[in-house]
Amino acid sequence: MPENGVWQQIWSLNIPPKIRHFLWRAYRESLPTKKNLQSRHIPVDPCCSECLNADEDAIHSIWGCQVLTPLWAKTGHFHALQALQFSSFGELLKEVLNKLDEHHQLIFAVQAWLVWFRRNKGRVENQWDDLDSLGIRASIVIQDHLLHHSKSESTTLPSPITHWQPPDRGTWKINFDGAMRKDIGAAGVGVVVRNHQGHTVATYTERFHLPQTPAIIEALAARAAVHLALELKLDQVSFEGDSEIIIKALQSIEANFTSYGHIIEETQDKSKFLQSCSFQHTRHSANNVAH
Ligand SMILES: [Zn+2]
Repeated sequence: MPENGVWQQIWSLNIPPKIRHFLWRAYRESLPTKKNLQSRHIPVDPCCSECLNADEDAIHSIWGCQVLTPLWAKTGHFHALQALQFSSFGELLKEVLNKLDEHHQLIFAVQAWLVWFRRNKGRVENQWDDLDSLGIRASIVIQDHLLHHSKSESTTLPSPITHWQPPDRGTWKINFDGAMRKDIGAAGVGVVVRNHQGHTVATYTERFHLPQTPAIIEALAARAAVHLALELKLDQVSFEGDSEIIIKALQSIEANFTSYGHIIEETQDKSKFLQSCSFQHTRHSANNVAH
């Protein structure tokens, strides 16, 4: 494939321009990797700061480093590519652009960019972000870009759930719910993040083995919802739950002396890290959450 073919393929990807630039630079081996810095006679140890096992070039820092293996293995299409050997990022990118469908090309591009971004942040701030949420963050970047840059903006999709009301554009809606299964002695919480078109972009579930009271489970569900919003780095969020007692507690500024008071207070404290958020009560039928 001639180089201008790759350039055109990169530029036709429906992703933010900064990610296209990143891909092109990675393809041309012009990212400021340690190996590149060394080849420019900058005194730096070319060894990867994370695995200490290989030189840090583009293919290693974005794809081959062993700390990234579980992340790329999560998606079947990428897992299959892991069995192959690529001597450069360019070789890998050509394989992705020629063999994978458009959806997976987008995921690859955004995930690669997030991996590179994380590595730079880690090196500069000496703080290495968790890799677990990176796949979800990639799908949010893609969704967000498609929403704001789709050619036919007028298409309003019907809400997938009766009575569920989508949030305003630019706001995420997070529904949370707790459930108890006394018969099996387990309880669980479920959280769903949706955008203003009603598309689900992330979900979270957690099970508890010890029996809890329904109110505690609902409070734990609220806390899980706020944690997920922070982990995904969302800014404006509308939280919805169907437990009136928990929503009222979350809205209140009074100290809460109930058995779940500490969970409410922790949830309120954490929610202050969001740019803006609200807690609303909704009927059970509108609070469709996967358990
Ligand atoms: Zn490494």
